[in-house]
Amino acid sequence: MKDQITMALAGNPNAGKTTLFNQLTGARQHVGNYPGITVDHKEGRFSHTGREISLTDLPGTYSLTAYSVEELVARDYLVNAKPQVVINIVDASNLERNLYLTCQFLELGVPMVIALNMIDVAKDRGIEVKADRLATLLGIPVVPIIARTGLGKNRLIDEAIAVASDSRRNWQPLDISYGDDLDETIMSLMTEIDQKGFLTDIYPSRFTAIKYLENDDQIMARGRTAKPAVAETIESLVSQVSGHLVKTMDVFPEAIIADHRYGFIKSIIRQGVLTHKFDTDRLYASDRIDKIVTNRLLGPIIMLTVLFGVYKLTFSWSELPVSWLGSFISWFGDVVSHNLPDGLFKSMITSGIIHGAGGVLGFVPLIMFMFFGIAILEDSGYLARVAFMMDRIFRIFGLHGSSVMPFIISGGIAGGCAVPGVLATRTLRSPKERLATLLTVPFMNCGAKLPVLALLIGAFFSENKARYMFFFTVLTWVVALLSAKFFRSTVLRGEPTPFVMELPPYRFPTLQGLLIHTWERTWQYIKKAGSVILGISVLIWAMMTFPGLSPDRIAAFDQQRKAVKAGFPADIISETEGKKTAGSEQAARLAEQLSIIDGDQAEEALRNSAAGRLGIAFESVSRYAGFDWRTNIALIGGFAAKEVIVSTLGTAYSMGKVDSKESASLGQRLRQDPHWNKGVALAALLFIMFYSPCFITIICIAREASWKWAFFSMVFNTVFAFVMAVGVYQIGRLSGLG
Ligand code: GDP
Ligand code: MG
Repeated sequence: MKDQITMALAGNPNAGKTTLFNQLTGARQHVGNYPGITVDHKEGRFSHTGREISLTDLPGTYSLTAYSVEELVARDYLVNAKPQVVINIVDASNLERNLYLTCQFLELGVPMVIALNMIDVAKDRGIEVKADRLATLLGIPVVPIIARTGLGKNRLIDEAIAVASDSRRNWQPLDISYGDDLDETIMSLMTEIDQKGFLTDIYPSRFTAIKYLENDDQIMARGRTAKPAVAETIESLVSQVSGHLVKTMDVFPEAIIADHRYGFIKSIIRQGVLTHKFDTDRLYASDRIDKIVTNRLLGPIIMLTVLFGVYKLTFSWSELPVSWLGSFISWFGDVVSHNLPDGLFKSMITSGIIHGAGGVLGFVPLIMFMFFGIAILEDSGYLARVAFMMDRIFRIFGLHGSSVMPFIISGGIAGGCAVPGVLATRTLRSPKERLATLLTVPFMNCGAKLPVLALLIGAFFSENKARYMFFFTVLTWVVALLSAKFFRSTVLRGEPTPFVMELPPYRFPTLQGLLIHTWERTWQYIKKAGSVILGISVLIWAMMTFPGLSPDRIAAFDQQRKAVKAGFPADIISETEGKKTAGSEQAARLAEQLSIIDGDQAEEALRNSAAGRLGIAFESVSRYAGFDWRTNIALIGGFAAKEVIVSTLGTAYSMGKVDSKESASLGQRLRQDPHWNKGVALAALLFIMFYSPCFITIICIAREASWKWAFFSMVFNTVFAFVMAVGVYQIGRLSGLG
């Protein structure tokens, strides 16, 4: 029987060592502990073409520096037990990272064969590793294998045996250049080490020099026991270089060494070792696209165009489905209301539940379109570029480049919606930056605020409409960014996260992927917003309805109606009650007079409702900003949905007195009302722009963050808006705007 050959199996964790070990040794293995340390020591025996082989499975490591027990064990085994050959198992699908350890084996100068494992996985990912090329460049055999199936294992062992028995071959440690500074130091350290025979019985001199530069505790301790005087000289030399590097470049030698190792690996891989079958073209194309897309001048223009496109997609293309859904919901409401007897129950179902739930569902098409747009940007890789470009600006305010999308969606250009905006903050990874974004996006001018702006600006500042609209758009950005800064320096204080987002290669999104992403996110919204919505809708309905008018007052209004009707013939009355639009002129007059009474009754009922009383109660505070109780109701209603503000103002201000034949527009009525003037209008504008987000947004904030933050948002925004409104109103009053 010939001599037994000793082999060691080494590599990164998960490279497939155990799998290969079992393939080679079968059941004939022995598991123990390395002496003194509880790290598995597995040894197995097998024979190959008549040779007896003993194989040791070393612990998996990424490096050979004394940072962990595994690294120490692997290194000590190699230098002490001196296996005749090391099988370095390398994961071909993760070549660059795996070769880092390979480099260090080569520096240690051990006889070695590379087992290029997982070539099946690599192939699936479109990666092909040219084993021959790698072998030539590294100067050692490289054998492709699939450890799981055993493919290539025989050739691997053939090569390993050849290396082990090749006594003529002199295994020279690999020399990697570590840059001018370090190379020079390494040379002088080596001279010292070689002259004094410092640890040379264990390690190659270059390896020792590098380990000293890497600040390797174990080797330094060993050196001190072996030759204290030499150790001291070497340590002082090293600390001199370290000090110099830290002073001049703010790096430690370890970092430079790691950089150069990776540089070495990269240069090897670039020389035709690795081909991404379908990826290289894409990578190059990405670089070329990025030259244009992130160009200083063209980049922002392209970005604005693309963002505008998403915006268009979200808010214009969704118009039709939104209106279909809207018609469907109102049709459904009609059907229900026709089939229910008049009364509270019907009112609750139609005004409370259907209206409220409809409000949530009404957003669904919009949200789907928005998520679809975002999915395209995200899946194609463009969103990362947008974030990359915006990061510099947003960073100033404690936000992240990825905050830009939520701001735009919420109405950053004018007319968006904070509900999808809040949901869009999910692309942010840092919790604090995400919260700061989430809390400030509701300041943007959402689509529901626009009619209010249009109404008030049209009524009071019609001379400069466009200028005011532009001013208010800029103002929203200023307020949002400054409050983000404020949050980030107070309640959300913390380090900004560096922009670590990788710029992934551009990819053509697949329709299936887009649809899945869109649907997942939309469904989440429906589930989240839908679960609380019913209760709150009913609550707001109840506030506007109860306690209602006393029977006496209802009877009084009925009496008025009867009196009016008394002045008309019976056929006209039945004509009026039969149809919505009365045909004859007399019928139209009657309908008009009746509707004035209805309006009066509605107004009195509203005044008497909980919301009305609240409005009146708030007057004592709100008068500092110039708001009367009717405005207050509209603002309370606006908390349900900002769209309601205009219609509630309309109800509250539709007094019976106005000659409804040529009924004045709401704007005109406000202008004529003694309560209103430019100062009030400006105060109301500011308040409406910045006060509490609507409750659907609040629910989304609560779901995305917590109820605490949702509540904070309500209070903070309302207080802030109120302070602004009071300031403007009072200044206006004093300067005679009123
Ligand atoms: P170790 O940490 O180096 O011991 O790695 P293991 O032997 O435990 O392997 C890690 C995983 O990779 C296991 O799930 C193996 O089944 C799998 N694996 C190992 N080699 C191959 C291979 O060549 N092809 C494939 N597809 N999987 C492999
Ligand atoms: Mg293992």
